[in-house]
Amino acid sequence: MSANSLPEGAANWHSLEVERALKLLNSNADSGLTPQEIEQRLQKYGPNELEESGGRSPWEILLDQFKNIMLLMLIAVALISGILDLMAWRSGNLKPGEVPFKDTIAIMAIVILNGVLGYVQESRAEKALAALKKLASPLVRVIRNRQVIEVAGKELVPGDMMLLEAGVQVAADGRIIEASNLQVRESALTGEAEAVNKQASMVLPEETDLGDRINLVFQGTEVVQGRSKVLVTNTGMKTELGKIATMLQSVESEPTPLQQRMTQLGNVLVTGSLILVAIVVIGGIIQARGFSNLQELLEVSLSMAVAVVPEGLPAVITVTLALGTQRMVRRNALIRKLPAVETLGSVTTICSDKTGTLTQNKMVVQSIYTGDRHAFRVTGEGYTPTGDFLLNEQKISADERPDVLALLVACVVCNDSVLQKQNADWAIIGDPTEGALLTLAAKASIEKDQWNSKLPRVAEFPFSSERKRMSAICRVEQVATGEQSLTSVDPALAGLVASEPYIMFSKGSPEIVLGRCTQIYLGDRAVSLTEEQRSQILAENDTMASKGLRVLGFAYKPLAEIPPEGSEETYEQDLIWLGLVGMLDAPRPEVRAAVQECREAGIRPIMITGDHQLTARAIATNLGIAQESDRVLTGQELQRMSDQELEQNVDLVSIYARVAPEHKLRIVQALQRRGRFVAMTGDGVNDAPAIKQADIGIAMGITGTDVSKEASDMVLLDDNFATIVAATKEGRVVYTNIRRFIKYILGSNIGEVLTIAAAPLIGLGGVPLTPLQILWMNLVTDGLPALALAVEPPEPDVMKRPPFSPRESIFARGLGSYMIRIGIIFAIITIALMWWAYSHTHAPGYQGDRDAWKTMVFTTLCIAQMGHAIAIRSNNRLTIEMNPFSNLFVLGAVVVTTILQLMLVYVPPLRDFFGTHWLSPTELWICIGFSALMFVWIELEKLFLRLMGKKSV
Ligand code: ATP
Repeated sequence: MSANSLPEGAANWHSLEVERALKLLNSNADSGLTPQEIEQRLQKYGPNELEESGGRSPWEILLDQFKNIMLLMLIAVALISGILDLMAWRSGNLKPGEVPFKDTIAIMAIVILNGVLGYVQESRAEKALAALKKLASPLVRVIRNRQVIEVAGKELVPGDMMLLEAGVQVAADGRIIEASNLQVRESALTGEAEAVNKQASMVLPEETDLGDRINLVFQGTEVVQGRSKVLVTNTGMKTELGKIATMLQSVESEPTPLQQRMTQLGNVLVTGSLILVAIVVIGGIIQARGFSNLQELLEVSLSMAVAVVPEGLPAVITVTLALGTQRMVRRNALIRKLPAVETLGSVTTICSDKTGTLTQNKMVVQSIYTGDRHAFRVTGEGYTPTGDFLLNEQKISADERPDVLALLVACVVCNDSVLQKQNADWAIIGDPTEGALLTLAAKASIEKDQWNSKLPRVAEFPFSSERKRMSAICRVEQVATGEQSLTSVDPALAGLVASEPYIMFSKGSPEIVLGRCTQIYLGDRAVSLTEEQRSQILAENDTMASKGLRVLGFAYKPLAEIPPEGSEETYEQDLIWLGLVGMLDAPRPEVRAAVQECREAGIRPIMITGDHQLTARAIATNLGIAQESDRVLTGQELQRMSDQELEQNVDLVSIYARVAPEHKLRIVQALQRRGRFVAMTGDGVNDAPAIKQADIGIAMGITGTDVSKEASDMVLLDDNFATIVAATKEGRVVYTNIRRFIKYILGSNIGEVLTIAAAPLIGLGGVPLTPLQILWMNLVTDGLPALALAVEPPEPDVMKRPPFSPRESIFARGLGSYMIRIGIIFAIITIALMWWAYSHTHAPGYQGDRDAWKTMVFTTLCIAQMGHAIAIRSNNRLTIEMNPFSNLFVLGAVVVTTILQLMLVYVPPLRDFFGTHWLSPTELWICIGFSALMFVWIELEKLFLRLMGKKSV
C-alpha cells in the first residue's frame, strides 16, 4: 500500500495496534522512510507547518495606533483649526491666496501617517519576530533510510520515525512505537500542567478523550522525561494543534518598558502644554485687557499643542529597536522578546552554565582509571576514533585487559548518542559527553552497534540533571554452541555477565555512582569495596577534576529480571564499581577576553554547573571568573542554606558546582533580592523556571531544549558566553542612542514651545510658526537627524562603565535637566533672533515682506537643530575630536535637511504651500549665525564638564 492511499478514516490512531499503524502508513520502525517516499509525501501532505493566525486583526492593530493621548490631542487641534478656518472662510476673512483647511488636512495627514506607520511597523515587527522564531525552531531526530539524522521540524512527513527525548518539543502528532519512562507535558493542548505518562503497548477505545490518549504524542507538547520512538501520523494543520491553531504561534509583542515610559511621557507633555496654553491665553487676555486678541491666542495655543508632540519619536524608537535586534542576531544573539534589546544593557550579573557556554562542549577523554589502581592515559584528538591507551606510558591493548574492556563496554552500552563519519569528519549526534565515550571505546574497537546486539537494551533509568546519572538495562543474549549455552559476549567479560540474564550499566557523577556501590570489579571478579578503595577512587577523581577534567563514574549490576518503571531507587543500589573516565572540555578561546570585558563593564560573571567543584574551579580560574582562593558553593551546601543565608552569600560566590536546576532558581531569586539585574543561561527542561525568573533568560540555540527556548528572552545561536557579552554591549548602545535622540528631539520641542509662547507675551503681533511648519520641523528636520543618531556607533567607553539601573527614569542622569536647559537656551537664541528679526522687518524702509521675521524664526529653529545633531553625537568628546565620517548618516541627514529647508524658502510653490517668505542672503546668514550659537553652546558645555572633571552619560 502506498502512503497516498492513507485512509481518511485513519484518524483514530490510538485505537490501532502499532503494527497496524505502521502498515497503514507504510513505514518501518527500524529503517524509517526512504528519500523517495519522503519526497512523495512532502508533495502530498505539504510541509509540517502551522499557518499563522491568531493575534490581533489588522483593524485592531490599526485602531490601537490611535489610542495615544498625543495623537488624540493632534486630532483635537486639527478639528479646532478646521472650525477656525471654516469661520474665516464663511465670513470671507481668508487672506488672499490662502488655502483653507491646510493645517487641518496636514495634521490629519500626519495623524493618519503616524497610524499607518505604526501599523506597518507593528505588523513588520510581528513578522520579523515570527521569522526569528522559525530560525530558532528546533531540529528533530528521525530515522530515515536506516540512519539516525536530524531534520528541520517542517520537513517531517506522516510515516517518519521520530525520536524523542527529555526537553524536546514534539514536532508532529504520532503513535508511540517504543517508550521508556516517557512523560509529556500537554498543557499547550489540554491546559493540564501535570505531565502525562505515555506508553506504547496500549490500544485504547475509539472514544478515548484527547487527554487520555496515552499511546499518542501531540505536536507542541513537551517531553519532560524519558525517551521514545514515535511514528508520525499527522503533520501541519492536520495535527491536533493545527486544528486549534489560533492559540499558539501568536507572537509576543509586549510593549517594551521604554514604550510604556513613552506613554507616560506623552501624558506629561500633553498636561504640560495645556498648562502653558492656559498661561499664555490668560496672560494674553490680561495684557490686552480683553478678548480682542482671542483669535491670535487660539492660533498660538494650537501651534503650541502641535509643537509639544514629538511626532517623529515613536517611529525612531521602533526603528532603533528593530535595528538593535538585527545587529544582535548578526552576533548570534536572537532576541525573542523585544524589551530584552533595551534592558540587556542593564545586566549586572551573568550566570552562565559551564559546559558548552564557557567551554567548547567538544569532549575528549584524556584518562581512565579502572578498579582502584590502574590509571591509563588516552591519546587522540576530537571525535576521531584513533588513539592509544598508555599505562605508565607503555602502550597496551585494551582487549587484553578485562578491566578496561568492561569499562569501555559500559561506555557504549549505557549511551544514547551516535558517532558517525560525516564526509571526512567524525561527528556525534547527541550529548558530546557520551560522544566522547563512544570515541574512546572505538579506539579499542568497541563499537556501539555491535554491542547493542550482544547486549540489547531492554529498559533504562534516564539521565537528568537532578539525578546526575543514568542506567541502561540490557539482556545478555544467549548463543547456543553445541550442547552448551554461552553468552555471546567476549569470554573476557564472562565474569561480568555470566550469572544473570540481565545486566544494568550505570554511569554518572562519580561520587553518586560510587556512593551506590558495595563491590568493585577487579578485572576478573567482583569483590567487596573497602573504605580504603573508596577513598583511593575519590582521591583519583579529585586529581582528575582539579586538572579541569569532567569525570564520570561507571558501575554495573547483574539483574535477574527487568526492573519496572520508576524503580530506580531500589535497583540503582549495591552496584559493582568499574572505574572513572576523565574528559577534557577545553574552554572556548574567546571567553577569557569576554570575562575581562565583563569585569571592566561592572558585570559579574558567575559559573553555575552540574559538574564537580574542582573541575568547575579549575575552569573558572583559567577563564578569570574566579580566583584560586575563591569559595565554591556546592548544591548540597546550598540545599542546607535558608533563603536569607543564601542572600548573604550570593554576592561573594562566583562558582556554584554540583547544582541541580532548582538551585538555579534560588540563586537568581537571591541575586534579584540583592537588587542585581540577572541574565541566566540554561538548556534543560528544568532550567525553564530559572530562565523565566531571570531578568534576561537565555537559552542555548544548539544544545538547548525547546522548552528552555520557549521560556527565554534571548537564544544564543552559538551557545557562547562571549555572545552574551556582545549582546549586552549592543543593548547598551541601543539604550544610549535612544536617550540621545530623546534629548535631541525633546530639547527641540521645548525650544519651539517656549519661542511660540514668547511671541504674544513680548508683544509681537502674530504667531511665528504655523502648525504645518511645526509638523515639518518635528517630522523632517528633527526626524531625519534623529534616525541617523539612532545608528550612532558605540562610544569607546561603552563597556568601561558600570551598568545603569533598568528601572531608572528616562529622565535620569541629567537627561531631564539637559532637555530643559537646552530647550531654554534654544528658546533664548531664537527669541533673540525673533526680536531682532521683528525689529528689522518692521523698520521703516524695509523692502521685503514684513512677515519675513517668522520665516527667519522658522529657519533658525531648523538650522540650529543641525548643529545640535552634530554636537550631540558624543556626550563627552568634542566634535573636533570625533571622526565626522564615523556616522555618515548624521552628516547626510544634516545636508539633506538643510537643503530641504532652503527649498521651502526659495522654491516658490513650496514657499506658497508652507506659508514661508523669501529671505535675503543677509537675513539667511544672520539665521545661520544665530543657529551656530546652539552648537557652540553644547560644545562649551562639554568642555566645561570636562574641566570640572565630570563625565556626562
Ligand atoms: P553545566 O550545568 O555547566 O552544563 P554539566 O553539563 O556538568 O554542567 P549536567 O548536564 O546537569 O551539568 O550534568 C551534571 C552531572 O551529571 C555531570 O557533571 C556528570 O557528572 C553527570 N552527567 C552528565 N552527562 C551525563 C550522562 N550523559 N550520563 C550520565 N551522567 C552524566
